[in-house]
Amino acid sequence: MFIDTAHITVRAGRGGNGAVSFHREKYISAGGPDGGDGGRGGHVYLVTDPHMSTLMDFRYKRVYVAGDGAPGGTKGCSGKGGSDLTIRVPVGTLVRDRVTGAIMRDLSDDKPFMLSKGGRGGWGNQHFATSTRQCPRFAKAGLDGEAHEVTLELKLLADVGLVGFPNVGKSTLLSVISAARPKIAGYHFTTLTPNLGVVRVDEGTSFVVSDIPGLIEGAAQGAGLGHDFLRHVDRCRLLVHVVDASGFEGRDPVTDFETVCAELEAYNPELTHRPQFVAANKCDLLSDDEPLNALRAHLDKKNIALFAISGATRAGVDDLVAAMAGKLATLPPVPVFEAEYVAPLPEGGDAQDLTIRQEDGTWIVEGPWLSRLLGNVNLTDYESRMFFDRMLRQSGLFGRLERMGIAEGDIVSLYDCEFEYVK
Ligand code: GDP
Ligand code: MG
Repeated sequence: MFIDTAHITVRAGRGGNGAVSFHREKYISAGGPDGGDGGRGGHVYLVTDPHMSTLMDFRYKRVYVAGDGAPGGTKGCSGKGGSDLTIRVPVGTLVRDRVTGAIMRDLSDDKPFMLSKGGRGGWGNQHFATSTRQCPRFAKAGLDGEAHEVTLELKLLADVGLVGFPNVGKSTLLSVISAARPKIAGYHFTTLTPNLGVVRVDEGTSFVVSDIPGLIEGAAQGAGLGHDFLRHVDRCRLLVHVVDASGFEGRDPVTDFETVCAELEAYNPELTHRPQFVAANKCDLLSDDEPLNALRAHLDKKNIALFAISGATRAGVDDLVAAMAGKLATLPPVPVFEAEYVAPLPEGGDAQDLTIRQEDGTWIVEGPWLSRLLGNVNLTDYESRMFFDRMLRQSGLFGRLERMGIAEGDIVSLYDCEFEYVK
């Protein structure tokens, strides 16, 4: 089965908690704090695998979680980082935000894409010794890793797409011009997955051809097979429209040509401007030139080049391949989609949902929304700091701290962010 869309949930690892510990040695009564930091949560990466051709694997496994960071240890030892998770996808996979549909990345090259960042580890108490706070009995919790719900959508990367009705000889043509060995048979819909083949023209020149499974009338409206495959035409730089010129199955080549063009247009109007050749196939079966001449006259009016060929005898195939290579040389490269996803601003929450405890003159504030918020703001950036400050004010945190008796100059500690309280 050919699966070319999938929905998955990915979650990066949570950062490990920092440790509370004190240096102990014989004859040293009060050692300093030496609790180590928690390890970072594992990231989730996506990377292309040239050997994969479908999103089949994602049908059965939908949730992907990277490892959590280990907690910090004694003697200043940091916890081990959580293991990263790498998910393999076919070349040409678009990653979209599931809710908005916005493209996060077009995985068309071999660079790994970090989809979810692991949470930072919490600091151990070794960081918190100050002149007034010599024995900090607290450490920080690690932050949550990023989570995303995404849709994966495969849009094959091919220079040339072979389109046309079922049974016109697309797979046969692909098999004679490349090393690909697609299934070929005299009945409709033998091709249920797009096949890719590399056509070698000469030393250093080659291009990729995809055999798009047969389109049928109504495909763009979702009738039967065919519709699912139209997306694979999107990126093709050149379309080679294969028509059965023999009229052998009682079909009229001109009508077939127009029907398939209408399907392509209904799916994506841009396709009408896509460079197109027509390969009039099965010419070995022609007893007279009448159907071929009618097709040629029709295409001349539209300024579309026609190549009379036979996939069976290979007649005319070399000329067609040379023309494809020549045309491709004049066309821009296969399009790669720009990322359009903008991460939404992280959400704040209500101070009532936070836990607040006081230790050693420090107010330690924790809670899920605060952990998420901190994991998503960059406190070294002014704008983000202002945003974070606004979120804290809106939550009512400062009012709550006041009611609990916070004093000017006390330290407020939010995971790995600390500041002195100023009224
Ligand atoms: P597709 O559905 O468009 O991929 O068509 P196939 O390549 O599977 O071919 C359908 C049938 O047409 C098969 O039985 C092929 O052997 C036959 N066929 C394909 N090309 C030619 C050709 O040029 N001449 C003849 N006589 N038969 C062909
Ligand atoms: Mg086929």
